[in-house]
Amino acid sequence: METVLITGASRGIGRETAKLFAENGFNVVINYNSSERQAIELLSEIKNAIAIKADVSNRKEVFNMINKAISAFGGIDILINNAAIASQMLFQDISEEEWDRIFDINVKGAFNCTQAVLPHMLHKKSGKIINISSIWGITGASCEVHYSASKAALIGFTKALAKELGPSGITVNCVAPGVINTEMNSNIPKDAMDTLKEETPLGKIGSPEDIANTIFFLASKKADFITGQIISPNGGFVI
Ligand code: NAP
Repeated sequence: METVLITGASRGIGRETAKLFAENGFNVVINYNSSERQAIELLSEIKNAIAIKADVSNRKEVFNMINKAISAFGGIDILINNAAIASQMLFQDISEEEWDRIFDINVKGAFNCTQAVLPHMLHKKSGKIINISSIWGITGASCEVHYSASKAALIGFTKALAKELGPSGITVNCVAPGVINTEMNSNIPKDAMDTLKEETPLGKIGSPEDIANTIFFLASKKADFITGQIISPNGGFVI
């Protein structure tokens, strides 16, 4: 049985992705940081899963998490770097602390988790790493320069690492979702969400399931010849 580790699986896209892998017979490692109640609730809903608290920006906590996951399931076949935070403000108002907080979680988190998992994948000469970016990492979003820059960094991270790890039988891909109905967008005003919906050719905001399905495909054997790619399920918002 294959094992998947999903960072930030307590809520939103990560949570739906955990459910989809569990339904399809995978061992699932649910990573969370502050939403313990939701993580425990998810654990009670799915089979063959464990939940591990770790702040992805904290290297020691990440390495402890990976060791616990490997002790529980014997390895990690798929790593999904999904955990992230966002905030909206004018560029001039971004403090150094806020810039660092976004980059520590969104970019260094993926760096930490990937470095911790990689020795095990290299040993097996197989593995799949999927990084969750955003359309804003492709197009840029006004009032989200820090978030957009962090998500663009994951695209460069994906392409470079795919080249480096291809010869070792490990694929690295990226999912760059459009606007998705999760708590991450809960502080965006309704009229702004309505405008985003109207600007989307398919006329709707995406669901966490839409993104989970894309991630699941990239993690499947059907995607064995795909690496270094940025797949953007966005309803046609960016074409
Ligand atoms: P969400 O509902 O806000 O969930 C974020 C998840 O990340 C939570 O499970 C949270 O866990 C976790 N997280 C945050 N900081 C963490 C940390 N330091 N360590 C470990 N986990 C941490 O967001 P979402 O919409 O599902 O977003 C998931 C991914 O999709 C993100 O990479 C996001 O950038 C991307 N994305 C989202 C959208 C969108 O419109 N929603 C669009 C494009 C891309 P805790 O609560 O347990 O801390």
